[in-house]
Amino acid sequence: MANAALGYMNNAESNMQSSDPVAHWNWYRVATLFDAIFGAQDAAANTRWDTVKSNLQALANLANNQPDMYVLCDDSQFWSVSPSQGQPTVFRNPVDNQAYNYPNGVMTCADSSPEGLYQIAYQINIGGTQFISICSRQNSYNSNLSPGYSEGTTLDSLGTWSTTFLHEIMHALPLNQVGDSTGGTAAGGERYGWSGAVSIRQDYGERNPDSYRLFAMALSMEEWLWHSGQAVSFNAEYDRLDKDANDATITNLNLPSPAPGPWQ
Ligand SMILES: [Zn+2]
Repeated sequence: MANAALGYMNNAESNMQSSDPVAHWNWYRVATLFDAIFGAQDAAANTRWDTVKSNLQALANLANNQPDMYVLCDDSQFWSVSPSQGQPTVFRNPVDNQAYNYPNGVMTCADSSPEGLYQIAYQINIGGTQFISICSRQNSYNSNLSPGYSEGTTLDSLGTWSTTFLHEIMHALPLNQVGDSTGGTAAGGERYGWSGAVSIRQDYGERNPDSYRLFAMALSMEEWLWHSGQAVSFNAEYDRLDKDANDATITNLNLPSPAPGPWQ
């Protein structure tokens, strides 16, 4: 998924230069989505574009460069005492057979916070090994992206275990990502979902794991435009741009209508 997103970004760069008007739709799809999630209109946008690409490349490289990493679909057997019981928590590390104390506790898959928050997934580094827990019980996503999305389907309603994993692995790699244990409200902490990602896009979108999850997921569904946070068909977008007398996008980008291409 990271590799595919990187490919779309690279293609967008060459599509922008292309004399083929159809390629301009490809560029438009990637550029508008990047603008929505990471911001494309300020002085630092070019640097963010490069940072996002390089972080996606780091993910894609994992296929060849495998760090010590454990992926758990159930963490219960690794924790000897639940933090919710207010007692020291001990993690039994299966890699070195050592017990690691967490006096302040860790919010595990079985726990919930006083505010009723729970973990979809989490990532911790113990003894030099990255542990990524996908909390299967709380994960309502399907294993595959639903093929049933249509005009107006929100990006927030879509997800898979793979996209959750992509989010967590952003934390696990040394990519300078922000974290959170407050449900996405701490100043400078990570933000979740479409509105969360959009709210910090120019501030530190390139350091927010969920921004990558949304970006890669949306790009993979190439039959639609996703820059509004929901599925918009190419034809509907053309109509919208066409009706807006102040919007010169169609002329400026030489966008063809009806939108031809592999997405039809
Ligand atoms: Zn996170």
